[in-house]
This record gives sequence, C-alpha cells and structure tokens, in this order.
Amino acid sequence: MYSRFFHNSPPPNTYLTMLNKIVLDWTKIHTVFLDMDGTLLDLHYDNHFWLEYMPIKYAEKYQLTLSEAKEQLISRSNAMRGTLNWYCIDHWSEKLAMDILMLKQEISERIKIRDHVDTFLSFLQQQKKHIILLTNAPPKTMRIKFQHVAIEQYFDQIISSHQIGLAKEQQGFWSKLHQQIDFKVKNSLLIDDNLSVLRVAQQYNIAHLLAIHQPDSQKIAVDTEEFTAIESFRQLF
Ligand SMILES: [Mg+2]
Repeated sequence: MYSRFFHNSPPPNTYLTMLNKIVLDWTKIHTVFLDMDGTLLDLHYDNHFWLEYMPIKYAEKYQLTLSEAKEQLISRSNAMRGTLNWYCIDHWSEKLAMDILMLKQEISERIKIRDHVDTFLSFLQQQKKHIILLTNAPPKTMRIKFQHVAIEQYFDQIISSHQIGLAKEQQGFWSKLHQQIDFKVKNSLLIDDNLSVLRVAQQYNIAHLLAIHQPDSQKIAVDTEEFTAIESFRQLF
C-alpha cells in the first residue's frame, strides 16, 4: 500500500523524515531553559503586532501616514533594543500613551504554538528534566499567551527577565539568574531564537545551545550562524 502512496505524491511526513535528528546526550542534560516567543511560540504574532498592527493604531492616534508611523515606531524601537524596557508593555504604554495590553488582546487569536512543541514538553516531563521557561516577556504578556496556548502546566519554573532585572542578552544576566535558581552549566540546555541571547549564555558556559531555524512562520528562515538550529521539535525526540 505504501508503494501506491509514494507513486502519486509523497506521504505527508516525508519532510519530517528528511530532517536530521539533532543528537543530544539527554543523560547529561538536567535543566532545560526554553524561550517563549519565536521558540515555543510562533513569532508571527509579535512581529505582526509591532510591525503591522501597532503602526496602524499609532497612525490613527497621532494622525500620521502609515509610513510615518512605521518610521517613528522603528526608530523608537531601535533606540531601546536589547534592554528590558524594549520588552516592557508598561514602558511602551507610557511612552506612546496607548494601551498596549488592550491592543495586544485585540489580535491575540494570532498567538500560535509551534508544531510538536507540546509533545516535546511531554517528553521532557517524562524524562524528569527540570523545565524552565525563560523569557524576556513581562508577566502581563505571558498571561495573554497562556490564555491561548496551554503550555503553562509543563514548566517547573517560569522566569521573566523582568524579575531578574536584566534582559537575557545583557551581560551579567546568567550570574544574576544563578543566584536565584540552582543549575549546573554543564548539564543545561538553552533553546532560544535570539542569537545574542545564545552568545551570552555561551560565554557563561551553558553547555548545550540550540537556535530556531524559522522563528516567524510567515517570514523566511534565519541564518543562525555558529548555532545548530531546530527546524522541527520532532528532531529532538
Ligand atoms: Mg524569542
């Protein structure tokens, strides 16, 4: 029966079977740090919000053309990139005098989990790993995400960098984190779509680091440079 199937069209899982398995020595990994946006969740929602939806709302409020609005938002965003404030809803609500949380809710149906993430999280639970969500998103944004994707129950700990006081890509983040939670760098895995975050973790000697091939499902894949990238979470288990 399979030969008939192959003759007409490739079976639906051909793409997955063609992907290389990413070999990790799970016996040596005790703690798994997982980023949220762009890693477990499709970055499309966040990109769409900031690059498409916000410019429309900002243009309406300040009576600008759409291109003026985009230009202003991009330059304000670039000035803050990589800092905690860049990720902070309260900061932007105040600076732009707009209710960012409410606006985020308006398009929250776009929040999507990446394929096979829940199976991967179940696998980690079965393997008795210490599973930590480690995100630059503030708790308020996390709550919107968790209303749409049921992943909260998988984590042993949920840590927002806002609780640490530094963004994950800032120097000193990992030593501050280490003062608050117990883990061994040589037994830790971090999966994150942000290469700056991975590099800072690498400097702290986090032993296992993986990037994400296509953080936003509606944009082209990214070059993850020195890091191995996950195309599908099926590659991990
Ligand atoms: Mg991310």
